[in-house]
Amino acid sequence: MAGEPQADCLFCKIVSKEVPATVVRETDTTLAFRDINPQAPTHVLVIPKVHYPDAASLAVAEPQIAADILREAGTVAADEEIDGTGFRVIFNTGSGAGQTVFHAHAHVLGGRGFNWPPG
Ligand code: C5P
Repeated sequence: MAGEPQADCLFCKIVSKEVPATVVRETDTTLAFRDINPQAPTHVLVIPKVHYPDAASLAVAEPQIAADILREAGTVAADEEIDGTGFRVIFNTGSGAGQTVFHAHAHVLGGRGFNWPPG
């Protein structure tokens, strides 16, 4: 069923605590944890507890949870004190855009400067 945990999904296993992660925030609908391969001094992933393959499909099926992800991204930025200087929220969507884990997630990056356009 849509949104159900997937046996072969790494982030579903992080939600169920089968795979460890450094969790920084948790709500009824979301989990935020540090990326194991950080690309900035702060690099936190915010994920829905339900399984959807990417942020766009999550937003169609569960718009409130998609909104929760954005709210949590802002809260993480405030907690990490990167909101003053600016931060990035990135949803890689599809392998051509660099998505490697097919469970919706927002990257929250900050603590350094960023270029535009992104690479
Ligand atoms: O957007 P993309 O799908 O490439 O992002 C997946 C992210 O998940 C990567 O930044 C990777 O470092 C991170 N990751 C993690 N913990 C794992 C496996 C992957 O933080 N156990």
